[in-house]
Amino acid sequence: MKFADLHLHTQFSDGTFTPEELVLQAQKNGLSCIALTDHDTVEGCARAATACSAVQMEFIPGSELTAEHDDTEVHILGYFLDIENRVLLERIAQFQSVRQSRIHEMVAALNKLGVPLKVESVFALANCKSPGRPHVARALVKEKLIGSLDEAFERYLKKGRPAWVPKTKMSALESVELIHQAGGLAVMAHPGLNRTDEIIPALVDAGLDGIECFHTKHSTVMSERYLEIAEEYDLLVTGGSDCHGYSKNKPLIGTVKLPYEHVEKMAAARQKLLSSNGRK
Ligand code: AMP
Ligand code: ZN
Ligand code: FE
Ligand code: FE
Repeated sequence: MKFADLHLHTQFSDGTFTPEELVLQAQKNGLSCIALTDHDTVEGCARAATACSAVQMEFIPGSELTAEHDDTEVHILGYFLDIENRVLLERIAQFQSVRQSRIHEMVAALNKLGVPLKVESVFALANCKSPGRPHVARALVKEKLIGSLDEAFERYLKKGRPAWVPKTKMSALESVELIHQAGGLAVMAHPGLNRTDEIIPALVDAGLDGIECFHTKHSTVMSERYLEIAEEYDLLVTGGSDCHGYSKNKPLIGTVKLPYEHVEKMAAARQKLLSSNGRK
């Protein structure tokens, strides 16, 4: 049996692995195919592709776009993206810039609370275009301003806490279109985690291609429910561990094993999309 893990992060967003380390871990876990889905960036994809091809592993370039629909945050995964697509790169650069400004705002809020974190420490640690709250949390731990990552979120960074700063997000409908024009398939990430069931029909109408049925934080009952929803709306079935490296416990890569037949169905759907893009 061949398996894939289609939801993975590296240092190019808030994961701790380099693309090369990620591929090594994928190999150790016996995976045949991986997708890189860093938040709002495709920066790590070229290196991951090179590392995969050196070990004959299949690689799918992707990204996890932070989006919203009716005030609900939803993460849309893009798969088989053309990572040189100009429209995609320009649009995600705007959201990377929002993420960078948000770091300044979060640090300012912390400083106001008397926490002497320097914005430079966060950027030095993040060292990527798409920084986020986990980098602020790690910098707080590194500077010994808090005991743990969880504490940092609980005290300061969680929604509603004093250093939480909302971020401007792309509309989910736009994210689907953006992914399609870059030759990719759009998939709703971890619906069980964001509780985004109500918005599935609207996204399907907008051309959503698939739904992430298997995810670390989905129970068996949840996965079964989303498999039924996939069947009902004729959506592709995807899955992945959402591994962020060593940021929390032991790496999650390989703990969610998507049977390879789903990757084959995705590849077929992608071919269909490319020929319809070509006709436009
Ligand atoms: P951001 O995109 O900057 O809002 O950060 C979101 C990321 O923060 C998610 O991908 C999670 O990995 C992480 N995160 C969110 N909430 C928590 C929490 N309560 N504890 C630890 N990590 C969290
Ligand atoms: Zn993340
Ligand atoms: Fe997510
Ligand atoms: Fe993720």
